[in-house]
Amino acid sequence: MEKTFAIIKPDAVERNLIGKILERIESNGFKIAAMKKAQLTPSQAKGFYYVHKERPFFGSLTESMCSGPVVLLVLEKENAIPAWRELMGATNPEDAAAGTIRKDFAVNIEQNSTHGSDSAENAAFEMSYFFSETEILS
Ligand code: GDP
Repeated sequence: MEKTFAIIKPDAVERNLIGKILERIESNGFKIAAMKKAQLTPSQAKGFYYVHKERPFFGSLTESMCSGPVVLLVLEKENAIPAWRELMGATNPEDAAAGTIRKDFAVNIEQNSTHGSDSAENAAFEMSYFFSETEILS
């Protein structure tokens, strides 16, 4: 079993898509090992997206992540990291495959409804950024 870290981003929470996204997660065989709703602060968002600090969209990305509440998740499944990225679809909804979350729900390349870790190393960092070990129930 592998764990990955996911976020339902403010654009999706704002449009009442939490339930629809959780339904896709569970019906695709993921177990929800941890979940909480949170309002990110600018410093939390900047720390989380630190790897992107030199990118031109860093300011607007971190601002949009603080524009409303998010849902933070730890998901568990065999090969959870690639499986969750496949279910989310490509970063830009215009490039995302049919039936993926981003194809169906994303507003644009930035407000793309969900986040998913892209490596085991980043998943470990991201999970521990928002959850203590005792909050993650396998
Ligand atoms: P991900 O792993 O698919 O989420 O994509 P990245 O790690 O490359 O980027 C992180 C997040 O930054 C994405 O999910 C988007 O919200 C945002 N983002 C990525 N590329 C762009 C871009 O070209 N423009 C803007 N405005 N936002 C972007």
